[in-house]
Amino acid sequence: MSKPSTTLIHHPYKPPANFAAPQPGIYKASTVFFADVAAMRARDWKTKAGYTYGLHGTPTTFTLEERLATLEGGTGCLLVPSGLAAISLVAFAFLKSGDEVLIPDNAYGPNKALATGELANFGITHRMYDAMNPADLQAKLSDRTRLVWVEAAGSVTMEFPDLPALVDVCRARGVVTALDNTWGAGLAFAPFDFNSSGQGVDISVHALTKYPSGGGDVLMGSVITRDERLHRALKLTHMRMGFGVGVGDVETLLRSLPSIGLRYAAHDRTARELARWLSGREEIAQVLHPALEESPGHENWRALCGETDLAAGLFSVVFDASYSTEQVDRFCDSLNLFRLGYSWGGPVSLVVPYDIGLMRDANVAPWPHKGTLVRFSIGLEDVEDLRADLQQALLQM
Ligand SMILES: *Cc1c(COP(=O)(O)O)cnc(C)c1O
Repeated sequence: MSKPSTTLIHHPYKPPANFAAPQPGIYKASTVFFADVAAMRARDWKTKAGYTYGLHGTPTTFTLEERLATLEGGTGCLLVPSGLAAISLVAFAFLKSGDEVLIPDNAYGPNKALATGELANFGITHRMYDAMNPADLQAKLSDRTRLVWVEAAGSVTMEFPDLPALVDVCRARGVVTALDNTWGAGLAFAPFDFNSSGQGVDISVHALTKYPSGGGDVLMGSVITRDERLHRALKLTHMRMGFGVGVGDVETLLRSLPSIGLRYAAHDRTARELARWLSGREEIAQVLHPALEESPGHENWRALCGETDLAAGLFSVVFDASYSTEQVDRFCDSLNLFRLGYSWGGPVSLVVPYDIGLMRDANVAPWPHKGTLVRFSIGLEDVEDLRADLQQALLQM
């Protein structure tokens, strides 16, 4: 008879099988047991046929991966610790010394920082292109280009590019395309199948931190493909770099994911109403929201997302240049319901002022506005309460 200290570890009790409940079971593991040495030797961590080690997947991470692949219309999915880690996984899987990556000038800022601060150390060069001009992308593709990033809408400035045209340019040259699909979230458009045309990007990267989490409390990213060869390459790099995710965070995402469609539509409805209202205010020179006709690339949004009629609950405004930076700062500080903070997709509405002049490469596509830009992420509060908050803050300027 074993002593209790041993029995508590090697306990014979097995709960009855077939427990069924709304949420899937949560499995925590670094170590995974094998039945015998033969099973240990035979196990292939590269497939989902079995389990090898926590880093290579558990029933919990496989379940989230499969649901996310379904959301975006892909077949292979990998989880990483943040949206930015998803971007770096793609870079390290497909770029080597001597290669070049092309990044749109309105891309998520840290994607550019990865290129200048890390990829450059490995002899990988990068160039910025004008996302709104497929001819500029065409002109910048070279024999060294191995990867092209696309993003719709652009981060912060919200221009909506002609995504199918950008992808066509790359496909004609056999260059891999990777989309930062955080804005579309797999809901506004199908990244692997634009308008059921069968045409789409090769890789979709998603900051699960945003809408899939929906709580402002989780960091995670995914890399999804529909191409087994690309998935294989990503999986190898993923393993070598040791990108694991915490099962508690996976559990939170599995809980949030079923409501993503309802939440996304609610964020969208409120955001559009507030964007339209702000476009009628004399303090505002330009509202940047792809579903608004006066916003750059609106026709591209309509062509790609007209069928779903969906947009993320995110927009920016450019204040009239007669308002100083201090006045715009005062507007932001005067808001009560809107909080100052980065990220988006959670229940709380957020606001961030940006100096776009500092973020853009003046040689690519000069930023045409003089006034200060403020980016709004619309939460799940009541639209009239948010409008009243904006109104009182505008009067404080
Ligand atoms: C937030 C965000 C990311 C990065 O996600 P993190 O989880 O914060 O690293 C990447 N791309 C876009 C467009 C984002 O908004």
